[in-house]
Amino acid sequence: MKKHNFSAGPAILPESVKKKAAAAALNYRNKGLSLMEMSHRSDDFTKILETTESLVRELLSVSDDYAVLFLTGGASTQFFMSALNMFNSKDQVGYLDTGTWSAKAIKEAQHYCDLKVLASSKEKNYTSVPRDYKIPSRMKYVHLTSNNTVFGTQIKKWPKTKALFVADMSSDIFSRKLNINDFGLIYAGAQKNVGPAGVSLVIVKKKLLGRAGRHIPTMLDYRTHIAKGSAFNTPPVFPIYVTMLNLLWIKSKGGVKAMEARNKAKAKMLYDEIDNNPLFQGTVAKRDRSVMNVTFLLKDAKLDKKFLSKCKKAGIVGIKGHRSVGGFRASMYNAMELSSVKKLVSVMKSM
Ligand SMILES: *Cc1c(COP(=O)(O)O)cnc(C)c1O
Repeated sequence: MKKHNFSAGPAILPESVKKKAAAAALNYRNKGLSLMEMSHRSDDFTKILETTESLVRELLSVSDDYAVLFLTGGASTQFFMSALNMFNSKDQVGYLDTGTWSAKAIKEAQHYCDLKVLASSKEKNYTSVPRDYKIPSRMKYVHLTSNNTVFGTQIKKWPKTKALFVADMSSDIFSRKLNINDFGLIYAGAQKNVGPAGVSLVIVKKKLLGRAGRHIPTMLDYRTHIAKGSAFNTPPVFPIYVTMLNLLWIKSKGGVKAMEARNKAKAKMLYDEIDNNPLFQGTVAKRDRSVMNVTFLLKDAKLDKKFLSKCKKAGIVGIKGHRSVGGFRASMYNAMELSSVKKLVSVMKSM
């Protein structure tokens, strides 16, 4: 039976990507070897790495002022690695606290800069994105979590500031258009909207590096990885390959612009049902609703079991809300088809 995978991450990948990945796992391009058995210094893998980088550059219009890196340690490592590399201990850096992941980023980065929390929606259990806050003009960087995977809010309008953004875009990169030049650094764990778990994407403006004024361990220094094209040590070969396949898929579907339109259509369909079906309600402020992760409740929690069992029968998986929020969460990353959202809506209608 066809599954409709609404999991928050590791998340859905296109069917064609999984097929190609499966073939490469057994026998890469008829070489008689699995890609997993091949040297990361081989011509084949060098080509994969180069192609993946050039796809990131093409899909997001990334200029040569920026380095594109494929690293390990997940987005969680970038919470401190970004700060360690980018910020001098005297730099005033603003952090917007919009959810679990922002709070974790703040906890790590406070040791490496003069960190100010610009605003926080924690007291409202992160059900909205703060708006009325000032960004002091001497602030060099503003850290944002562009999409709050757990609570289902998203930054729709980037704040107006001369400061450069440092952004955790783990759950919405490649889902919408961006002006890369507003950013000093972007990081994302791959397992939501980029590829499989095991690799993180980092896009960093090169001229901002080398000013931190502190010792940085070799493996944690972006400059190490820039100098060696993400192959200073053994990179995560297979996750990078699957990332390449997924980026090729995005390109074949019309790129980020087409993804944005497709994602908006999916989100509209589900939010319309949440708003029109008297049994359901959304959990966050309407204007901040995420296009990627839709959080909602059954007004009568006694119906939860029935809903989950109907979902299961329909092949819908990964719909249970994060333990800190409860209710339900439908994650609808790029690879999700509108037909899967239709399926979910039909189950909601049948309640
Ligand atoms: C999932 C997620 C993370 C954590 O990613 P890891 O790769 O597991 O460290 C960080 N930030 C956001 C926004 C996420 O969605």
